[in-house]
Amino acid sequence: MCEITTYKISADLQKHYDPTKTTSLRNLFASKMKQRFVELQKVVKTSIVDNDCFGLKREKLALHQMVPASKEAFNFIRSSEKIEAFMVWLQQQVDKGILDVRVFQQVGGSIEGAWTNLYIYDSYKRGVLRAMTELKKAGFDIPENQLQISMNNPFHVDRVGLLFIRVYSDLKGITDAMDSQISRILAQGVADGDGPALIARKIISTINGDGADKLGITDTLGRFVSGQRRAVMLARTEIIRSFAEAQLQEFENWGILGVSAEAEWQTAQDDRVCPICEHMQGKIFTIEEARGKIPAHPHCRCCWLPYIKELEKYKK
Ligand SMILES: [Zn+2]
Repeated sequence: MCEITTYKISADLQKHYDPTKTTSLRNLFASKMKQRFVELQKVVKTSIVDNDCFGLKREKLALHQMVPASKEAFNFIRSSEKIEAFMVWLQQQVDKGILDVRVFQQVGGSIEGAWTNLYIYDSYKRGVLRAMTELKKAGFDIPENQLQISMNNPFHVDRVGLLFIRVYSDLKGITDAMDSQISRILAQGVADGDGPALIARKIISTINGDGADKLGITDTLGRFVSGQRRAVMLARTEIIRSFAEAQLQEFENWGILGVSAEAEWQTAQDDRVCPICEHMQGKIFTIEEARGKIPAHPHCRCCWLPYIKELEKYKK
């Protein structure tokens, strides 16, 4: 007998405050992201203030002839050379500390990748697992080792690889924009004859956005969102994207098992849900239509539920 059944969201699932259950992963990724920007601020301060890399503390120089080479590293005569050398150094710090490509352990071996891959992969795996849990709840028999098998599925490997690249290039875009902001602030500061402490404060503020108004940074750059804030927001948002994309890919992969699933929009259903997402709650999309819709905006917390029309006929 072929009974058409509508897949229902269980009551306890509806009550979930965080449908993806990735709050701690998002917090962890965001804090690891922030740490890297804070580290950058520290090396900027050490370089400019403690090490006087621009050689701006002239009277002090006379007292300390035997300074290590790293000090006054950018003490060129021409200001443009100072700035240029500083920017080269800064980019190296950003490359090492924020973009940071390393050997990364993945199922089936180790590959070279950005540090961010670790978090994206974790969220992706959770998305696949969540999709499987939903399938199990719907009465399908899911073998214990299915997650391992699924993660090795070429469609998943391909999909998660694209997410890795996306996050890395978005982060690179953020740091590139930050670099050019810093370069402008530094040029302005040097032209204005700012001392090292003030220049350092201005650059740090350009990185983290704190006190930008007071330091006149917004006068130079206009209204801006600091690199650190954008990167932290990226970290949180991309965890949600990775989770949602994993779910959709897994739903799509079910086609091989003869399960044709669509995707149903699931918000956190609490009072923090924004009007954009509130409006989407419970809407059904084909997998193709659903792609790229979640996150709907930065800090979105939505995910998908499988919508299986002809559920009964596949039940064991
Ligand atoms: Zn949302």
